[in-house]
Amino acid sequence: MKCTQCGNETFIEGLRFPIHFDGRMDSGFEMFVCDKCGYVEFFFEKAMDYNREINKAIKSHDSMIDGPKQKLAKLRGRALELKTELKRIYESEVVKLEAIVANEDISVKQHKDAQSKLNTIKNLTSREKREMSGLDFSELPSKRELDRLEHQVKDLEKMKEQDILAIKRKYDL
Ligand SMILES: [Zn+2]
Repeated sequence: MKCTQCGNETFIEGLRFPIHFDGRMDSGFEMFVCDKCGYVEFFFEKAMDYNREINKAIKSHDSMIDGPKQKLAKLRGRALELKTELKRIYESEVVKLEAIVANEDISVKQHKDAQSKLNTIKNLTSREKREMSGLDFSELPSKRELDRLEHQVKDLEKMKEQDILAIKRKYDL
């Protein structure tokens, strides 16, 4: 924050006084006095408090969410990379075998071998496909662990939303 008059950035802070509407106290003003030129700025206390509280809540929630969220994004990204690479390897193998099977210049034995490999490869389970690809999936957690992490992030985000809503309701702004 800067002084409107002189641009100074240091103030005498913490000066508050109440304001009365119809004889009842309705929040108040917070005063900032520039310690260089004496210029005074007034802020509506309720809004200042609201902003402080909401920023504090957001910061505190984000500090809890950031870690798991980044971890999840990293793992998801890596999982997608591996999945894409697996698909590429698998499909190129299928294309290769289909080309051999379609080739009319090969022996019956070669044709039968290729056809049999093609049948095998088309019936592989996802685990077998992974093994066939030679890719290392060990760095990835299980789907269950990944789901749990996702739930954790969702729960934390929900808590943040609820907290923010509660603060908004409290200040009624
Ligand atoms: Zn000033």
